[in-house]
Amino acid sequence: MRVFVLSKEGIPLMPTTPRRARLWLKARRAKVVRHEPFTIQLHFETTSYTQSVTIAHGETLLQAEVHLRTDISEKLTRRHTYRRTRRSRKTRYRAPRYNNRTRKAGWLPPSVSSKLAATLKAVRFAASLLPVRQVNVEIASFDTQKMRNPEITGAAYQQGTLFGYQMREYLLEKWQRMCAYCGAKDTPLQVEHIVPQGRGGSDRVDNLTLACAPCNQRKGTKTAGEFGFPQIQAQACFPMRDAAHVSSLKTALLAQLTRQFGEQQVQVRFGYQTKYQRIQVLKLSKSHAHDAVAIACELGKVVTPLSVVWQMRCLPRGSYQRFNGKRSEHKVWAPRKVKGWRLYELVEAKGQHGYIGGRRENGSFVVKDLMSGKTLVEVAPSKLLRLRRPSQGWLMRRLPASYLGAKEDGPSSLSYNKGVYVPQ
Ligand SMILES: [Zn+2]
Repeated sequence: MRVFVLSKEGIPLMPTTPRRARLWLKARRAKVVRHEPFTIQLHFETTSYTQSVTIAHGETLLQAEVHLRTDISEKLTRRHTYRRTRRSRKTRYRAPRYNNRTRKAGWLPPSVSSKLAATLKAVRFAASLLPVRQVNVEIASFDTQKMRNPEITGAAYQQGTLFGYQMREYLLEKWQRMCAYCGAKDTPLQVEHIVPQGRGGSDRVDNLTLACAPCNQRKGTKTAGEFGFPQIQAQACFPMRDAAHVSSLKTALLAQLTRQFGEQQVQVRFGYQTKYQRIQVLKLSKSHAHDAVAIACELGKVVTPLSVVWQMRCLPRGSYQRFNGKRSEHKVWAPRKVKGWRLYELVEAKGQHGYIGGRRENGSFVVKDLMSGKTLVEVAPSKLLRLRRPSQGWLMRRLPASYLGAKEDGPSSLSYNKGVYVPQ
């Protein structure tokens, strides 16, 4: 457990131990700037001694799961419906807008652009706590260019363990994660030689396919053609089509990160490297947080993940155009605070922990579950006990890494290790 430290000027320094932070605070040499995660700011000048120690011991400093918003599309549909019905009511004139819009180059659908913005926001948040020198991003499960390079598909297959991982990811993608002969899914698949090795078949990727154990057994020493699958034999020669799987979100994210941190500071990772690092080097089980640790640390370097993971939920700003537009008739706004309470504050009510999800006119507050968003209780505000306020647009909560209740639609993980910084 580390305490995050900001310099006198507010620039993040290397985190320190709680003990030292306590001494600084006691001596009035520092002040608390944030409680979650605990961050202090120094009152005295420091030389930037920070970087020289970073690479020494592999230690994870901050581990977080970021829950992106999934309500954008639904909310925009609702807004569209409201606008539609408002047209026929007595209301201000709205120019028809169905046909006078062009989409700029690089346009992303609102739901995707929200995810992009939130991911960048999360990276900036981490960079406000730690001296981030490098950002590692996983963009696809394997490196298409490497797979197409004949030198690698040839000899390296027999040699590199890392390549074994890459090849398996590639085959899973190329053969759609099923047995090439019977189409069986969700069974253990084996890497299978289309022309068997015993009959001169090579180890190159284009001679490989996936088969379930029974099919592999039955095929024996036959070639795929002899086994009754000439189309597989034919398909084998063609490498997979190019990187259509690198989606627009990932491309945009990479471009924006590069713009913010510089080209040298952003490193692209592939899923096979993550998998290799997580299983072979770190020996960790499958989880978002563990994957993030594997992405963040240098290949081959051992770091220990933290036992706690921050759960960060991206919050809407709530600046709805309906009422707060320049020419809106009404300037109606639910006050930021009702009886001293804001939305999304973490509270305890009737023994349950949740966040304020709604404040009803009849005076009762709706407390919702942090992970599922389901209503837990409805109580009067006087019954609430404040645990934490959201900070910088994030609802944050620290949970043990073993906590598995968090099964929202796939949170994307961020993790920052000491191992990723480049010493200066
Ligand atoms: Zn099969």
